[in-house]
Amino acid sequence: MSDCIFCKIVRKEIPAHIVYEDQKFLAFLDIHPQSPGHVQVIPKNHYRWVWDVPNVGQYFEVVAKVARAQQKAFDNEWVLSKIVGDEVPHAHIWVFPSDQAKGDKMDFEANRQKILSAI
Ligand SMILES: [Zn+2]
Repeated sequence: MSDCIFCKIVRKEIPAHIVYEDQKFLAFLDIHPQSPGHVQVIPKNHYRWVWDVPNVGQYFEVVAKVARAQQKAFDNEWVLSKIVGDEVPHAHIWVFPSDQAKGDKMDFEANRQKILSAI
């Protein structure tokens, strides 16, 4: 989809604080974070809903990888996840530490580095 904001992030037409990338999936910091290190995990191919992604088990392996990195990076066991599907019509899973996580949620580069070093 040419005008989808998440497809533009996949194509690197819009900058994002990427914390994980492989052939099929991409994880980056949400620009309106609920807490420090709030990540969106998306398939690189455009699917409207998480439930449309064919390799959904592989998708959740990436989500778990990010969640475990957030636990370490923010010294916080409690990591939340949400699948809603509104706002951006491209499958995405929210993964974010609880609001007890240490750090400034708007310090994107520091939070990105923390996740990268824990992933
Ligand atoms: Zn898209």
